Amino acid sequence: MNHEKSTTGAEPIVRLNKLNKHFGSLHVLQDIDLTVTPGEVVVIIGASGSGKSTLIRCVNGLEEFQQGELEVDGNPLLPDGKATQALQKIRTEVGMVFQQFNLFPHLSVLDNVILAPMKVRGLNRSTATETGERLLARVGISDQAHKYPTQLSGGQQQRVALARALAMEPRLMLFDEPTSALDPEMIGEVLDAMRELANDGMTMMIVTHEMGFAREVADRVIFIDKGRIVEEGPPETIFDTPAEAPTKSFLSRVL
Ligand code: ADP
Ligand code: MG
Repeated sequence: MNHEKSTTGAEPIVRLNKLNKHFGSLHVLQDIDLTVTPGEVVVIIGASGSGKSTLIRCVNGLEEFQQGELEVDGNPLLPDGKATQALQKIRTEVGMVFQQFNLFPHLSVLDNVILAPMKVRGLNRSTATETGERLLARVGISDQAHKYPTQLSGGQQQRVALARALAMEPRLMLFDEPTSALDPEMIGEVLDAMRELANDGMTMMIVTHEMGFAREVADRVIFIDKGRIVEEGPPETIFDTPAEAPTKSFLSRVL
């Protein structure tokens, strides 16, 4: 993408250095080195079970890791989930959108969006509502503000989840297969909202199987196989001239 980037001399937002994670005997992430700079859109691809979700979840402290370094916006997370103030900070600076929308069913759409800004950031209701309404307009669902999640389509619910994450003014947005649970006709509207966010310069890490979208929005594509980064590069390189056998094999199955 050719959106403005403050890459010159900018501190990375995410920095992983030789990160290793085990689930018991399963070595699920192996020596992951990864740096994400402000404004960058990084798309992570790979087969089911390769460790994509685990990687994304490590970045906002939802999963512990055992060895290596992980820093988000200058806040270091420690191995084995050792509690630090950094974790709290990271949770408020990083927004996440999952495959399942995870909206609060008993709250209206607007209340879903303004809850965290009020509770965590301490905004009063009218300020939070103003921002919430602006964000709902931005993702194209202003008219749904007073409905409840179950009254919305999947695509609309996922756009509420996006607005809710944005309401915390995140420095980084993580997406884990945000369109995988959607009916095909609703995938486009969610990808459109994400594309707009990328164009606005948001720093994003996205796990997706939507290869056309990845090619279009990614600054960099990372291919993971069995817990290792096998190959990374600009989308044209990864999709058109992959160098490694596992990448070629994966792409031949999904493209
Ligand atoms: P992906 O998102 O690429 O499909 P995951 O990160 O979800 O892969 O999973 C990577 C591997 O780790 C898989 O083999 C999965 O079964 C395993 N795994 C994931 N979560 C856990 C867990 N909480 N406990 C044990 N194994 C897990
Ligand atoms: Mg996954």
